[in-house]
Amino acid sequence: MFDKRYQEGAALIDSTGEVKDSEVESDTGVLIPRGMTRWPLPDPMRMALQQARRAADSGEVPIGAVVVRDGKVIAAAHNQPRAMCDPTAHAEVLAIRAAAAALGRERLEGCDLWVSLEPCAMCAGAIVHARIARVYYAASDPKGGAVEHGACVFDQPTCLHRPEVYSGMGEAEAAELLRGFFRERR
Ligand SMILES: [Zn+2]
Repeated sequence: MFDKRYQEGAALIDSTGEVKDSEVESDTGVLIPRGMTRWPLPDPMRMALQQARRAADSGEVPIGAVVVRDGKVIAAAHNQPRAMCDPTAHAEVLAIRAAAAALGRERLEGCDLWVSLEPCAMCAGAIVHARIARVYYAASDPKGGAVEHGACVFDQPTCLHRPEVYSGMGEAEAAELLRGFFRERR
């Protein structure tokens, strides 16, 4: 099903090809070269996670998304159905809308979507309609996801457009944001 699944600790480089932080604190508190633990996240996923944090800060479920075209971020958004009183105001939908407005067209051919959580059925549908070329998502969502779970939208024979799908980058960070958010609300 996946074009590629990245594992935490797998060799990843960011868009500049550089390892930015040279040292990281290990579980035992010892500073070790970052490359010995894991490679840094690509910038778009880092931005999607920043957006997810913004959502959490405003009391929304922490999910963030960015749209990239030709290596440039053209739209970024966070989940805000509560603030907008709009059940469709998921991060992916808002990012796709903003990207389409920025480009002045209704299709996003050649664009990639980076999102912190596996898209739901509505967002997967929007991704199809937008003709997004590649989808990168961090954490899987067994309950609400519709890419590798539930409706498996892109795998349906009636699906008009199938993006390439990559998952797992930033999984630990994205899942921890969600866990922390729901923990505080219990
Ligand atoms: Zn959604």
